[in-house]
Amino acid sequence: MRLRNITGSREVIADSEFVVKEAVLFECPGTWHDIFGNENPIHIEIGMGKGKFIHTMAKEYPDINYVGIEKYSSVLLRAIQKMEEEPLPNLKFIRMDAEDIAKVFGNEEVDKIYLNFSDPWPKDRHAKRRLPSKEFLARYDVILKRNSRLEFKTDNRDLFDFAVEELEPAGWKAEVITYDLHSDEALMQGNVMTEYEEKFSSMGNPICKYIIYR
Ligand code: SAM
Repeated sequence: MRLRNITGSREVIADSEFVVKEAVLFECPGTWHDIFGNENPIHIEIGMGKGKFIHTMAKEYPDINYVGIEKYSSVLLRAIQKMEEEPLPNLKFIRMDAEDIAKVFGNEEVDKIYLNFSDPWPKDRHAKRRLPSKEFLARYDVILKRNSRLEFKTDNRDLFDFAVEELEPAGWKAEVITYDLHSDEALMQGNVMTEYEEKFSSMGNPICKYIIYR
């Protein structure tokens, strides 16, 4: 998702109380419990877009701390606007490229990772940029607690097949794999739809999902 450059979005982000600055985090990774002021588990969404999913989750589960990560200022701005309308103490944002994710979270600091409708980067030479690639799985391996889970949803079958193939070489195992999430009553329990999920499922696209661990 890339919105038009919105004038002033960088300034809004720099001033926003909801955004934790990347530079501050680089100085002292592993301090998220201090940032939230409690010891609750930390769940993150990488590539959150406008933040519909993570905002809904944070509202539903006040005893979990959520961190939404988004690369583009113009997109993050929408998530900030939503927080200004309905502030939540257990949700923070970072504007950054997730390539540096292991610099802003400590070893095994994160209790769950969500990837939702990640950009497909269809050209082979860009495979390393795909958020479920083995290169990214290696970064998640550092920050995610042992026995914790990573959940990935997409309607893009090529990206999903790629993601499944990456698991074994990267040392991850699938607990759940479905190629039609919305037809699976058990998996749909508590499913929070992302913005892209609403859009693509309403067009009739089946939604793939895996839950993985190592
Ligand atoms: N997760 C949302 C949803 O399901 O509705 C948004 C999906 S959108 C297709 C993917 C989002 O991931 C975009 O907003 C994009 O800017 C962001 N993104 C892609 N690569 C990223 C990266 N390396 N680091 C942080 N954000 C990234």
